[in-house]
Amino acid sequence: MTSWHADHAWLGDAPASDVLITADRGRFTSVTPGVPRPPHAERLRGLTLPGLANAHSHAFHRALRGRTHAGRGTFWTWREQMYAVADRLTPARYLDLARAVFAEMALAGVTCVGEFHYLHHGPGGKPYDDPNEMGTALAEAAAQAGIRITLLDTCYLTASVGGDPLDGPALRFGDGSAAAWAARVSTFNVDPHARLGAAVHSVRAVPPSQMPEIVAWADRHDAPLHVHLSEQRAENEATLAAHGRTPTALLHDAGALGPRTTVVHATHLTSADVGMLGSTRTHACFCPTTERDLGDGIGPAADLAAAGAPLCVGSDSHAVIDLLEEARAVELHERLRTEQRGHFGPPFLVRAATSHTALGWDDAGSITPGARADLVTVTLDSPRTAGIDPAGLIFAATAADVTDVVVDGARIVQDGRHLRIDVARELREAIACLS
Ligand SMILES: [Zn+2]
Repeated sequence: MTSWHADHAWLGDAPASDVLITADRGRFTSVTPGVPRPPHAERLRGLTLPGLANAHSHAFHRALRGRTHAGRGTFWTWREQMYAVADRLTPARYLDLARAVFAEMALAGVTCVGEFHYLHHGPGGKPYDDPNEMGTALAEAAAQAGIRITLLDTCYLTASVGGDPLDGPALRFGDGSAAAWAARVSTFNVDPHARLGAAVHSVRAVPPSQMPEIVAWADRHDAPLHVHLSEQRAENEATLAAHGRTPTALLHDAGALGPRTTVVHATHLTSADVGMLGSTRTHACFCPTTERDLGDGIGPAADLAAAGAPLCVGSDSHAVIDLLEEARAVELHERLRTEQRGHFGPPFLVRAATSHTALGWDDAGSITPGARADLVTVTLDSPRTAGIDPAGLIFAATAADVTDVVVDGARIVQDGRHLRIDVARELREAIACLS
């Protein structure tokens, strides 16, 4: 039995004071606000949140941070730089890089990551002896960093909506067919800190005829299904030209939408698209710091939420790893789009940052008895947070204000330091190997 006493803890939709929290074997056993600290309980200063869920990540994109801003360029020229990094990764290098990236996430309060993983094979597309060696490296990286992972094993078959074949570095992404993808994934066993999910990379990378096989695999395994959707207008235009439908309608017709599905970005949608996503209760994952970095645009967050689509957030390309920033940007971008304030308040934004349902961990994301014992403590004494109303923390704090992190009852971050990993040094060394 472990006991903590939080000066403030986020219970339900608001902070409570003087909260005694106990856990046993990785689960909360009691949560009691308004009591003094007993001598055996460890004090958590500041405001303690449930664990943050990073619903969309490509770990290796972290190697591009601060290296893609010379000249102009577009999403598509950025993608060429990303492919060049992918081309240099081996399973051993990816383990080192991903461990450091996941440890950076831990420092930011992320207790569970959804890793959208498509770099499956060796150079030229040749499978490794263990065809899931890259995915295994990612699961191991999360274990070493002390966080949980949903490995969203991604089907990636074509280079365009028109079905052009993969070439160059992208050969490493491809399994040839959805059936071959399913056969490979079905041999993949993961440890209890990890869970397998499925992903359709996008309508650019998976033809409609191949989608039902992936949807069926997710159904059979009761697994999350993720897909990049309408991040760029060019995807919409190509899909309309090739199939006479929007990407959302294409996914809907393939049976790919539903409460276990998460569409990532959802930036350029028609009102009919919004209606389809809302009525099917499909999750929408916004990645605002990446979307602004890549010049993608601003998605219709308020319309999606009003239509019934739950929202979650991800750090995607890791231009920044700060889930507090991602969550408040959902509101702040909506303010820029509409020239009005007050679409999403702190309770909604904290829910978006802490909900684990898109990643298939329905038993995490709240400080309640029976839930997984994940705690993220944010200081109220930094230059950014001193003097704030704790209820408004999501509009003030950054990842640098996270001081303490507990995952499944085990502490992994203390006083702003990862207990096992020198994060800056490992990031520097892992990225130097790829330059
Ligand atoms: Zn992505």
